[in-house]
Amino acid sequence: MAERMLKFVHTPQKIPQKRTVEMRVQDFDEIYNRFETSRAAEQASRCSQCGVPFCSVHCPLGNNIPDWLRLTAEGRLQEAYEVSAATNSFPEICGRICPQDRLCEGNCVIEKGFESVTIGAVERYITDTAFENGWVQPIKPVFERTESVGIVGAGPGGLAAAEKLRRQGYQVHVYDRYDRPGGLMIYGIPGFKLEKEVVLRRWTYLEDCGVQFHLNCAIGDGENDTMSFADLRQKHAAVIIATGVYKARDIGGPGAGLAGIVPALDYLTASNKRGLGEAVADFDSGLLNAEGKRVVVIGGGDTAMDCVRTAVRQGATSVQCLYRRDRANMPGSLREVKNAEEEGVEFVWLSAPEAFLGDDHVSGVRAVRMHLGLPDTSGRQSVEPLPGSHFNLDADLVIKALGFDPEDMPKMFAEKGLEISRWGTLKVNHRTFMTSVPGVFAAGDIVRGASLVVWAIKDGHDVAAQVHEFISQPAPVAVAAE
Ligand code: FAD
Ligand code: SF4
Ligand code: SF4
Repeated sequence: MAERMLKFVHTPQKIPQKRTVEMRVQDFDEIYNRFETSRAAEQASRCSQCGVPFCSVHCPLGNNIPDWLRLTAEGRLQEAYEVSAATNSFPEICGRICPQDRLCEGNCVIEKGFESVTIGAVERYITDTAFENGWVQPIKPVFERTESVGIVGAGPGGLAAAEKLRRQGYQVHVYDRYDRPGGLMIYGIPGFKLEKEVVLRRWTYLEDCGVQFHLNCAIGDGENDTMSFADLRQKHAAVIIATGVYKARDIGGPGAGLAGIVPALDYLTASNKRGLGEAVADFDSGLLNAEGKRVVVIGGGDTAMDCVRTAVRQGATSVQCLYRRDRANMPGSLREVKNAEEEGVEFVWLSAPEAFLGDDHVSGVRAVRMHLGLPDTSGRQSVEPLPGSHFNLDADLVIKALGFDPEDMPKMFAEKGLEISRWGTLKVNHRTFMTSVPGVFAAGDIVRGASLVVWAIKDGHDVAAQVHEFISQPAPVAVAAE
């Protein structure tokens, strides 16, 4: 083994080649090419097979990274796939969109001086290869159980739970208000990070496993909803809520109501739907299309990065990103900032909007320079405006990417017993994942607040195990009165 591995000393890190900027801004395809087989093996062989692998410790799923790297280096790809799939329901998705610089790769021990093993790219390569070779076979449970589980939300949290429960033989029903499963992976995250076919391939796979999807099916008590939460509970032995967080944080101030100022998710969803061949009225009208426009995106997270890069691809004449902190303090992945800069996005750091200019339609953003102050109680440096430092940016389209909060869940489901935290997320018992309503569990962003796909998968696995324990526990024995 030692001969095949530990090659980091003389084999440099090579990430998969990126398509040229000129090519990639012409379309919404992924920007990274796939590894050649020999390159995947070579890069996997750089791993030093640590006894205590910090990469795995910092992977939310605790993936057995050194094992599948070694198997890849040895050309034993089917075994590598099996090891990888044992802990991750969607390795090819995490390999593409996890912020590896903050998770597995950022904690690889050979990171300093030699540059980490390209874990994400190898992970993606293994499962893409497995799909192509027919190694990803539908689950055939050892026995079918009669009990059914209803899952509200077909994002990564709900789908990971569905996969695990199906493996246990449950009748799994997934309900989603959208017409396709995937949650933010399908309508939020753009194709240049995660091609839609990769998500849709998992839809087919889960259907082949026997998961039953009820799409265009909104759960709730509103007049446009399809089924009430009470009716859903009647149908199933247990229910999992994995509905994500969708209430966009807003910004006030003079001119905030002008036309041409739009929420990020509306903008990204329109672009993704167009990419999937659908007609989108607000895109066709120009409202959610950046073509020929000067675009200003407000925010510094993953959503803002996706917006600026989408605007470039739609043919914006200029794209600026306004963020109140600096590069080192932004929440988004630094890899994505670099990609955005390469594609021509201008970052206006340490700047915050104060007002929006224009008569009916926005024509500019009035901003003020900020400086970083002392750390607050959370440990993050506070930001304060610099007096007299105002400046204007021209804009025909302003996209607000300021983060998301949960919707009012007890109201949406007409379930007053559903307790929420002070942030509006669903309260769960952190051991059982059960909410305050018996038999109702929750997972993913609706519990954590806006987070990551890999954490939603982890929650999906954990909640599935707890649902299994809940359903399979013996019914209480009635004790006859003396
Ligand atoms: P979601 O993915 O939000 O899925 C929830 C599902 O529930 C949706 O399909 C929704 O339609 C459905 N639903 C909601 N309410 C109802 C209802 N009442 N009835 C029926 N269905 C309902 N994470 C990363 O790891 N890497 C990234 O690069 C990344 N980029 C991102 C970019 C953007 C623009 C955004 C917004 C997020 C990004 N994230 C990224 C975060 C990641 O997408 C989320 O953390 C993850 O999708 C959460 O999974 P979830 O299953 O909890 O919820
Ligand atoms: Fe790294 Fe994410 Fe894969 Fe874990 S799931 S090994 S954090 S890319
Ligand atoms: Fe290999 Fe790096 Fe993980 Fe160590 S930390 S096992 S070198 S990938």
